Amino acid sequence: MYTRSLCWFRRDLRLHDHTALNHALEQSQEVIGVFVFDTIILASLPEHDRRVAFIWNSLQDLHQAFTEQQGALYVLHGNPEQEIPLLAQKINADAVFTHNDYEPSAINRDLNVGLELTAHGIPFHSFKDQVIFEHNEVLKQNGEPYSVFTPYKRAWLKQLSAEDYAERKSEELLHRLKTSLKNASLPSLKTLGFEAANTNTINLPIGVKGASSLLNNFIQRIDDYAERRDFPAMKGGSYLSVHLRFGTLSIREAVRVAQSRIAFGSLGAETWLSELIWRDFYAAILSHFPHVVSHAFKSEYDQLEFTNDVALFEAWKTGQTGYPLVDAAMRQINSSGFMHNRLRMVAASFLIKDLHIDWRWGEAYFAAQLNDYDLASNNGGWQWCASTGCDAQPYFRIFNPITQSKKFDPDGNFIRRYIPEIAHLPNKYIHSPWESAHPPANYPSPIIDHAKARLLTLQRYKIALNKTPNISTQ
Ligand code: FAD
Repeated sequence: MYTRSLCWFRRDLRLHDHTALNHALEQSQEVIGVFVFDTIILASLPEHDRRVAFIWNSLQDLHQAFTEQQGALYVLHGNPEQEIPLLAQKINADAVFTHNDYEPSAINRDLNVGLELTAHGIPFHSFKDQVIFEHNEVLKQNGEPYSVFTPYKRAWLKQLSAEDYAERKSEELLHRLKTSLKNASLPSLKTLGFEAANTNTINLPIGVKGASSLLNNFIQRIDDYAERRDFPAMKGGSYLSVHLRFGTLSIREAVRVAQSRIAFGSLGAETWLSELIWRDFYAAILSHFPHVVSHAFKSEYDQLEFTNDVALFEAWKTGQTGYPLVDAAMRQINSSGFMHNRLRMVAASFLIKDLHIDWRWGEAYFAAQLNDYDLASNNGGWQWCASTGCDAQPYFRIFNPITQSKKFDPDGNFIRRYIPEIAHLPNKYIHSPWESAHPPANYPSPIIDHAKARLLTLQRYKIALNKTPNISTQ
């Protein structure tokens, strides 16, 4: 039994259903919490970053929860590789508990923290929590990783038992958070070098309470998920991605919700569970194939050539391409930090296959904008759209931005919400305003001809594949 241990919070900003905290409470007389605002990560972010505001607000709730237990949550600002070992020594902690992270830089950080702690005789315990199954838990019979989603999903489902998503309960041990140490106050956003973001105006529910209200709302709609999820004008998805990203919702709770409806034959819940499995799948891909961070999953596609026209990239970023669905999507991400899943595919495909811009440029832009930005899922999504990834869209199947628009926003309701310049157009022209007799002067004509761009893309992919002597047929 440890006398005093430290629980290091990262992408798991909650007290309940928390594996590391649960273990810490079971094995220690007293548990202190810590979160570090990492100066290296913060250095590249803008002043009004929504993610920093989301974390900061969620930490206020967590801090309050510690206070209610007469506990202490230290919120530090620095380099965790130094801060965690220093704090552990300062408060005489005899163990540190945390959760596994799968991003290459985080793995490296944790390795260094572990080494430093061990050098001071402090054990460092890290647990699975962010996913249901880690990369080495769902493998092919020959021990190799899956690189195609459907067989991975089959194996994932076959392996799933109730224990995998059972709640990690710690309520009866929470009194062990009580400490004689002073609960230091939270540094202000300003001290951290940030300003409040527009999380209120974009109606982004924050913290554990926000996650819970979104989840409760989604539970009423989960049965309709399969039919509604692809239509951006409808409230079809759960909007929980940011909460799964920062752990204000536990992945096990999400799976419990899905399973409880699947038991009643809900197709919506089954489809939703499938999306949660995609999340595990991409996390496993990143763990097994870390080269995807900067290279194509399939190396032959590293030969692809892009024109990378900066003016076209700017038009895409600012929602001025002249293709209404693409522009509405980009305006959605710019104003709210969220983009509907169908639109992420449409906008990404357009950037790569219509504008011939490197998928890594788009990936980086999404990474800077998305509230739910997650390296594994974002990279997986972009490589899927670029046809360079595992189980990706075949390169010859190229999204037509007008067909997608007519199919998934048939009445143009979503487009009208984000592009007031063309909101008055009848449905007939809402997807292709340039065809109307009087196209609005304040909305651009298409910056590219889709049919021509498509042919060029097909050529480029063929050339890239022929350039490489050994093309894998995986
Ligand atoms: P729901 O439809 O309610 O799905 C439930 C949960 O499943 C999501 O919250 C998410 O955690 C997970 N999920 C759903 N679809 C996927 C998927 N295709 N891959 C992995 N996990 C999924 N998702 C992120 O969480 N972070 C990202 O940075 C991210 N970048 C993306 C980039 C591109 C180009 C594409 C095509 C997809 C990306 N996605 C990303 C996946 C998906 O678009 C979002 O998870 C989803 O739109 C979030 O909305 P929701 O919470 O309502 O999802």
